[in-house]
Parts: sequence; C-alpha cells; structure tokens
Amino acid sequence: MLIDILSLFPAYFKGPFDVSIIGRAIESGLVQINLIDIRDFSQNRHKKVDDRPFGGGPGMVMAPEPVASAIRSVKKEGSHVVYLSPQGKKLDAAKCKELAKHEHLILLCGHYEGIDERVIEKEVDEEISIGDYVLTNGCAAAIVLVDATLRFVEGVIGHPEAAMKDSFEETGLFDAPHFTRPVMFEGMEVPEVLRQGDHQKIEKWRKAQAREKTVRVRPELVKGESL
Ligand code: SAM
Repeated sequence: MLIDILSLFPAYFKGPFDVSIIGRAIESGLVQINLIDIRDFSQNRHKKVDDRPFGGGPGMVMAPEPVASAIRSVKKEGSHVVYLSPQGKKLDAAKCKELAKHEHLILLCGHYEGIDERVIEKEVDEEISIGDYVLTNGCAAAIVLVDATLRFVEGVIGHPEAAMKDSFEETGLFDAPHFTRPVMFEGMEVPEVLRQGDHQKIEKWRKAQAREKTVRVRPELVKGESL
C-alpha cells in the first residue's frame, strides 16, 4: 500500500510513523508513506500558500494552485484522494476497512480556515472527519486515519485474530475487559471465571461484560449489534 500525505508540516509525522506497528510496517515494506510539503508547490517567491478569504471574515484560506499541484504530482489511475476535514463523514472501523483496500491513498491535510472549495470539488474523492470538533490542522487526523486503517492491511498486525476481538469488530460492540498478573492489585482481584480455564464460561462472561459496558456507555451501538 502506498500513502502520500500532503500537508504544510511533514515533520509532524516523524515520531508517530517511526515507531511501533506502523514503523515496522514501513520497515518491512508492507506500506510506503511519503510526506509531501504543499509549500514546495507554491509559485510565490516567499513560498506563500494562503490568502485572505473572499467575502471577508477571519483567518486565511489555503490557495487552490499549490494544493491542486501537490495532489496532481502524486495522483495516478486508481488513487483515492481523502481530505481530512471536520465536514467529512465520521471515520469508523467500517470506513477504515474500506480504505485499507485501496492500493494508493492520498491524504490531504488542511490548515488555517481550510482549503479553497474548488480544489475539494475537483480533486477530492471524499472528506473524512475524525470527530465533531475542530483541530488546528489535519495532520493529527491523518495519523489517526493511517493508524486505524493499517490495522486492516494484511500482515501489519502480528496477531490478526486478536484484532478481530477488538471493539467494533465481529459484534459491533466493545471489547471485553482485560486482566493480567498479579491476581491481586491494590485489593482488587482478577475475576475468578478468568482463572478457572473453562473457555465456554470465559467466552460467555466476556460477551456479557462487553455488552454491559456498551449499553452503559454507547447504547446506540447495541442497536446495530450482531451477537
Ligand atoms: N473552518 C473549518 C471548519 O470549520 O470546517 C475548520 C478548519 S480547521 C481549523 C483546519 C484544518 O484542520 C482543516 O482544513 C482540516 O484539514 C483539519 N481538521 C480540523 N478538524 C478536523 C476533524 N475533526 N477531522 C479531520 N480534519 C480536521
């Protein structure tokens, strides 16, 4: 899988993409992530990429020319262009699975008040939001999308069967609670059922726990459950 990330801050991604599961996926060649600086496509001698909004109002807008040129420099047949935006459809596990099927993702990170609407109309396939709040720029959203999507790319996760037990998979509900040693921690004991080795009972207990927490915290998820 190839992912091109277009932003004004390529350095933003250095830490998160250098370590852990994503770092290993890059190192093993399962995924290639290119960081592209939109400023490199500015025709302005000061490398300016923003301008004042037509119609007035606060803030600046990313100008269409450098953004369109940056996208076109990497776009090819079959590329899927995503603009990270609070105005997009909300990212969820189903969307991540769908994105993981693309061989080439182009992720566009906005800044300031956002990007000139004409580029979005012309070059972007879909807008995706990571939640109903506004970030200062799209880089953190791109990191979230890449992390959550790569988990569905074959070979990225060492134990794919563990990922199937994660929240929102299989049942659409939360994962069950996890415990490890010691059995007693500050007066709290690991539930007995998990220590008795009866796998049917354990499975039943986990399902009940997962359901109880989902109903308590996110009741709307239970409507779509497939238990
Ligand atoms: N004026 C825009 C609005 O209200 O819809 C917000 C612009 S925001 C300050 C700057 C950039 O951050 C956006 O262009 C987008 O790329 C990114 N961004 C902000 N919130 C986001 C979110 N919830 N999900 C994804 N990207 C987001």
